[in-house]
Amino acid sequence: MPIYEYRCADCGRKVEILVFPGERQVACPHCGSSALARLMSRFAYHQSEADRLAGIDTSRPQSEDYYRDDRNIGLWAKKRLKELGHDPGPEFEGIVERAKKKVKEELSG
Ligand SMILES: [Zn+2]
Repeated sequence: MPIYEYRCADCGRKVEILVFPGERQVACPHCGSSALARLMSRFAYHQSEADRLAGIDTSRPQSEDYYRDDRNIGLWAKKRLKELGHDPGPEFEGIVERAKKKVKEELSG
């Protein structure tokens, strides 16, 4: 299961929440508020890539929302390649980096 870091807008605490696949509503464990903003943490990225890979259902494409978190870009394809017996390799990482850049440009533009 992926663990995400959030900042609670109501009590101001930073919280880590285990998010089950398909779960959309998360609540602050301290005050119960759902006004949580996901924090983009490089640390969490390295901690949980394996978890997020495990949580991907490769039998169907991911929603557009899923890719708004740019850490998820490439994970679906990576897992699918591994399932098919291919090693994604360094070339794949390059493709993913380019895709992330492109998405960032589109979101900011
Ligand atoms: Zn709170």
